[in-house]
Amino acid sequence: MTIPKAYVPTHPELFVVEFQPGNFASRLVSLKSFEAKETIARISRFTRTPHAAYHTVQCGSALGDNIELHSDLVYVNHSCEPNVAFDLSSKDTSQWHVRALKQVKAGDPLTFFYPSTEWKMAQPFDCLCGSKTCLGRIEGAFILSAEELSSRGFVNPWIWTQLERKANKPRVE
Ligand SMILES: [Zn+2]
Repeated sequence: MTIPKAYVPTHPELFVVEFQPGNFASRLVSLKSFEAKETIARISRFTRTPHAAYHTVQCGSALGDNIELHSDLVYVNHSCEPNVAFDLSSKDTSQWHVRALKQVKAGDPLTFFYPSTEWKMAQPFDCLCGSKTCLGRIEGAFILSAEELSSRGFVNPWIWTQLERKANKPRVE
């Protein structure tokens, strides 16, 4: 396990980052247990960025509504059956938080459903989560149905807005 030289844990009492060689193979493991619906951490260290990238998180439906996370939360990987939600639904950014969607035990890797924030991913990828309902290719919410989205426990409001907008768009013949 190689730890990047400049790395400093941001939530040493809550998580540990398991660094793995290779792109996006590292993961965030919980050091504590959480009940479903319990808030795990506030999303407090971030900056806005106009450019969506693999590691940015969408925070609204306008162009440029993305944030860059400057904390260990950036290591939460995608799963099609996630155990946490990234809830950025409040207008008050101090309310943005990560919460458990189901019971999380100490030692569990934390995962969230990337299309619950991302309409169209900057970098689509093939999911290897291994869950029964795995969607395979993860490209964002824009190719998913309302059912495929709502079955993941939590989806941010702008995704529903964008889905509605897409459904109401007059078809060009
Ligand atoms: Zn999957």
